[in-house]
Amino acid sequence: MALIVQKYGGSSVKDLERIQAVAARVKQTCEEGNQVVVVVSARGGVTNRLVADAKTLHEQPDDREMDMLLSIGEQETIALTSIALHAIGQPAVSRTGAQAGIVTDSVHTKARLIDISGGDIPQQLNDGKVVIVAGFQGMNETGQITTLGRGGSDLSAIALAAALKADICQIYTDVDGVYTADPRVVPNARKLPEIAYEEMLELASLGSKVMQSRAVEFANKHDVPFEVRNSYNNNPGTIVKADITLEDVVVRGVACDKNQTKVVVSELPDQPGAAAKVFQDLSDAKVNVDMIVQNLGRDGIANLTFTVASDEAYKAEKAVTECLGKLGRGKVDLADRMAKVSVVGIGMRSHSGVASKMFTALAENGINIQLISTSEIKISVAVDLEKADDAVRVIHTSFDLDKE
Ligand code: ADP
Ligand code: ASP
Ligand code: MG
Repeated sequence: MALIVQKYGGSSVKDLERIQAVAARVKQTCEEGNQVVVVVSARGGVTNRLVADAKTLHEQPDDREMDMLLSIGEQETIALTSIALHAIGQPAVSRTGAQAGIVTDSVHTKARLIDISGGDIPQQLNDGKVVIVAGFQGMNETGQITTLGRGGSDLSAIALAAALKADICQIYTDVDGVYTADPRVVPNARKLPEIAYEEMLELASLGSKVMQSRAVEFANKHDVPFEVRNSYNNNPGTIVKADITLEDVVVRGVACDKNQTKVVVSELPDQPGAAAKVFQDLSDAKVNVDMIVQNLGRDGIANLTFTVASDEAYKAEKAVTECLGKLGRGKVDLADRMAKVSVVGIGMRSHSGVASKMFTALAENGINIQLISTSEIKISVAVDLEKADDAVRVIHTSFDLDKE
């Protein structure tokens, strides 16, 4: 008998019909002789609606209250899924994150896991029940509800699979697995049969929302192999694990993040430590800075351009404005939203020419590159938001990713 953790995302539980389909799959998995723990997300669209409601009432809603609010989305789904299982004769019981012993720190809206005891899940499984756990939520050490960052049900599932020593962790979504690019943007993207944690982590953190990057990070650290599959069919999915069959592939996939804002700091004094002070203050304000370019102007003046996640743009502007006040000169401007398009592949470690191929494809299609950043296994460029999908498609084609 295997212990299987199955996670169903918002699109897989979006309405009662889909919840019934999930219940049928779960029951079938039990009938095949397995114990099943199910982790569910809020129904598709619910979390966004709750966020919008809060923002209608207040520009910067309190983080603790946001966790109290957003956690109800998952709580609705666990009960409905359990009821749907009862209706087809499968014993099942729902558990909140707290009841499943998911303990986090107190950083509301992006809490980090401290411990997962699993609560009474093993007993319930031994009593023949399916246990349905609310994804995305936990509680801190004083019993306050916390959440694990957007898309956090993926992390709940992977971490529960590790804590319960599950044999298999399956992430069910609305596409067949992890593709060479978002299949909704690139119709001829290919599903990858397998992908290494490292590559999946880069794709996820560079905007491929099929998996939450923190979940992949956790899986990598604790070596939890998992499979991404489609809840709408029985097609084989993508296995994400440490060692994958090495092929002669340089670029594995293309990712796009449309949630970037460019911050331009101009007329900064060109003296040692000025940039350091700006970035120190941004770091103190808990703003993550991404792509950075500094150019020297004339007369001892420097300009600094970088990108931040759009929802942190105002926080970044405030931190830089205060810093420039202390430095005695310089000004800061928020430019339009833009997109970061990236190519990822562990083969890039041993191959050259990836940047030139990527930049040539963009140039030939009249797409201007605004900023560039690289690491060992990825190259990212910032482009105009309107050009983002075209950029993904031309890069995908230039690396032959649509071919077997
Ligand atoms: P869930 O509701 O199951 O959590 P998400 O909407 O978070 O699902 O993630 C699935 C979506 O991720 C897909 O519908 C797809 O459009 C998008 N996506 C982006 N990049 C990729 C990729 N490389 N492979 C597969 N899906 C991707
Ligand atoms: N409901 C949460 C969100 O929309 C968590 C998740 O779906 O994984 O971000
Ligand atoms: Mg998701």
